[in-house]
Formats: sequence, structure tokens, C-alpha cells
Amino acid sequence: MNKTIIVSNRLPLQVKLENNKLDIKPSVGGLATGMKSVHADGNGIWIGWSGITDEELTPELSKDVQTAVSKEKCVSVPLNQQDVEDFYFGFSNKALWPLFHYFLEYAEFDKNQWESYKEVNQKFADVVLANVEDGDTVWVHDYQLLLLPKLIKDKKPNTSIGFFLHIPYPSYEIFRVFPWREELLHGMLGADLLGFHTYDYERHFLSSVKRLLKLEVRFNEISYSDRIVKVDSFPMGIDYQKFHNAALKHAQHTQVEKTELHRRLEDHMQSSPDAKIILSIDRLDYTKGIPNRIKAFEYFLDKYPQYREKVRLVMLAVPSRSNVDTYQKLKRETDELVGRINGKFATVSWTPIWYFYRSMPFDNLIDLYTSADVALITPLRDGMNLVAKEYIATRVNNDGVLILSEMAGASIEMSEAILINPTSYEEIADAIKKAIEMPVEEQKSRNHILQKRLARYSVEKWAEEFFKSLDATKTIREAIVAK
Ligand code: ADP
Repeated sequence: MNKTIIVSNRLPLQVKLENNKLDIKPSVGGLATGMKSVHADGNGIWIGWSGITDEELTPELSKDVQTAVSKEKCVSVPLNQQDVEDFYFGFSNKALWPLFHYFLEYAEFDKNQWESYKEVNQKFADVVLANVEDGDTVWVHDYQLLLLPKLIKDKKPNTSIGFFLHIPYPSYEIFRVFPWREELLHGMLGADLLGFHTYDYERHFLSSVKRLLKLEVRFNEISYSDRIVKVDSFPMGIDYQKFHNAALKHAQHTQVEKTELHRRLEDHMQSSPDAKIILSIDRLDYTKGIPNRIKAFEYFLDKYPQYREKVRLVMLAVPSRSNVDTYQKLKRETDELVGRINGKFATVSWTPIWYFYRSMPFDNLIDLYTSADVALITPLRDGMNLVAKEYIATRVNNDGVLILSEMAGASIEMSEAILINPTSYEEIADAIKKAIEMPVEEQKSRNHILQKRLARYSVEKWAEEFFKSLDATKTIREAIVAK
């Protein structure tokens, strides 16, 4: 029986090693949810890194990891500290991440790190090749593994290979700057189906292929040696029911079941019933537009002083890649900006920005989503942005206003939100005012449309559509062979 292999940089597991003891839990991210039906099904497997380097493992522990992850139908790819340093923190996050998000000034193209990127992609390929058989389907995920489709296809041509990019694909003018651009494109073209979040990313990819490799492109199909490679957009959804049901349950919580954060937010609302909560949630990443959001909030308080003491920005920043220097710099800048603005406007009874720099449990996330009158999401560039979708899913009474950057992939499907250009303080300030003043009926009618769309195009549906399309490429391949 043919099987499906999912490959991503990290396994959908939280593997912890404490005092030489392993603790393994399934992780609850969106990708794991979307893949659940495929992965849980029969003999599907998931290949990726466990999160623990070779150096941390004795040979015995290493065996234990493999045994433990195999119970979850996973196979781990062994990586050493140097791999993680050069391939992950190095090349993936210092070259590809900034380049694909249009932050050319942050992109470092280091030859040694590129070599490591190639070696680690080969390590993933070795594990896939040890597990794959003719007729199997392999679905590779994201920018850490751009070379993997070709490494598999070259050795196992009779497999169906899909690839999905979870970040933006940049315009040709940006991509052409990349020193090893042809090699990267050939790596991706090993796939039979290449998926992107939006039509624009798809279009940019096709344009790179045409201009750099001079390949024939017809609509969304590329003729590549004796194969056809199909390219399409599949906007990723969320586990809508999970967020919606959690918010429904949250509304029924008794006093005893409420979290500390929940109580604090309620106190805030009771002490000033007409005060509004504006929420932002993101990883602390320079693509998320955090400093420009804070400055725009300052501009709002300057331009519309009648709203001082009437609004509060609750800002949750989740620590991310904190050993990369650009992220450390952003952390300092954010701390300073929050301090400066709180110092400038705070009164005895009001602090304009509540800033949390930490990860929070799911319940707290729901507390925040459900308490927020407005979600303010202002990335300078974002492949999709799931937070925007999660906020809407939790609005069980249909009220609440989403302000969303037009640079987020999600904006394409969420035109009922207030869309802003994240570099314009003027636009953001006016959008905040509009959101606060929006009649509840209008909020509800906008959210009703958004919720219907999000519920229909969930993450499960996204995975299903991708597989359907990948399956169709198999039929085309078989027809070509039959000729
Ligand atoms: P990115 O993938 O770039 O981080 P997204 O908005 O697409 O951005 O996805 C972020 C995901 O992380 C969302 O699913 C969100 O629920 C989750 N998340 C955000 N903040 C927290 C937090 N503090 N604790 C746990 N999960 C979080």
C-alpha cells in the first residue's frame, strides 16, 4: 500500500530532554492539525528534526528518541550543533528569511552556511530515501528544505512530490539577488506540485523560473526536462472549530476557572467600561512591523488626544530566534519604544501599552482574543498571518474589528477587515479611530462574512485541496508515460 510522507524542519512533537530523561508530547500547531488526517491515516509518516542535537544525546538516548518518536509515526533526522547553527540559525534565518521577506539589508550570504544548507537538505533526503518507495507521496514543507524535492526526485522519480512554501515568495527583482538562485530553483522544481499561499507569490515564482532558467511556462505549468511541474496557490487556513469552540467555552467559565489574565482583563473592563482593548500578537520578528505599530499608536494618541485613558494596546510578543543579532536589536528597540511611550502618556490610573514578552498557554491566548475590541496586525511582510484568522474565529458574538496590513497574505482573503499600509502612521492611526467608532452592526456584518469564509476554508480543507491537486499531477504523469 502506498504511503504519504510529510517532511518539515521540525517534527510535530515537543521533545524535551531533562536530567537524561525524555519527555515527548505532540505539538498543537496549525500544520500538525492540517496534516492530522493524513498522518494518522494508516501508514503515513512524518520526517523532521526532533529539536535535540546529536551532542546532547548518548547513543542510547538517541535510540530512545527514535523509538519514542516512532510511536507517534515520526522519524527523526539527526542534526548536530554545527548544522543547527549554520543551516537553521545561519542560512535559513539569515539569508532566506530576510530575502524572501524583502529585508535585503538583513540578508547575509555566507558560502559556508550555504554549504551547510546543502548538507542538511541531503541529511533530510537520506532519511526520506530510506523510507520512501515507488508510488508513495511526499509532501515537503517550507524554506528550510528548498533543495529537498530534487534530491528525492533524482533518486526516486516514481514518487509524487509536493512542496509548500509557508513564507512569501519575493518578486523576481528581489530573488535575482540570491547568489545561488538557479540551484535553489532547480531544487524546488524536483516537486510535481509547488504550492504558495497567494497567487502573487505563485506569479513571482513563475517569473523567476522564466527569467532565470528560461523554461517554458504555460499558465501555471512548467515544462521541466521530461516532466510537467504544476504551480498553484493554496491559502492556509486555521483549525476554525478549535478556536471558535474554545472561545464559546471561555464565555461560560465560572469565576474559579478563570485565569489570572482573564481576571485582570475583566477588572480593566469593569473599572472603565467604555475603555477599549487593542490587541497585537506576534513572534518578535522584524517582519511583523512591531516598532512601526508602536510609533503609529503614539501618533494616534497625539492626533486624537480624546482617546487617552480610553484605549490600551495589549501587545504580546513571543520570543523568537533570540540568538540572532537582528532579533536582539529588535528586542532592545521594542523595549525602549514601549518604555518611552508609556513614560510619555501614562497617568496614575492608565498605562497605554501592556507589553508581554513571553509565550503564553492556549487558554491565555483565548483570553486575549476574546477580550480585544480591536486586533491590530501590522506586518511589513508576512506569508499569511494566522493570528488575524484566529482573532476572527474567536469572535463568538460577531463583534470586534480587525485592522490588518495589506502586506500579509491573509489580507487577500480578508478584505472585510480594515486594511492598512503598515508604513503609514497616518493610516494606522485613522484605522484605530475608525475601528473604535465602528457601529456594532457594521462589525457584525463584516465578521459574519469573514467567519463563514474561514470556517469553510479550514486548515484541514487546505491540506485536502493540496493533496487533491498533487494526486492530479500523478494522473498527468501517467498519461505522459503512456504516450
Ligand atoms: P508566524 O508563523 O510568522 O509566527 P502566524 O501569525 O502565521 O505567524 O502564526 C503564529 C501562530 O503562533 C498562531 O497560530 C498563534 O496562535 C501562535 N501564537 C502566537 N502567540 C503565541 C503565544 N504567545 N503562545 C502560543 N502560541 C502563540
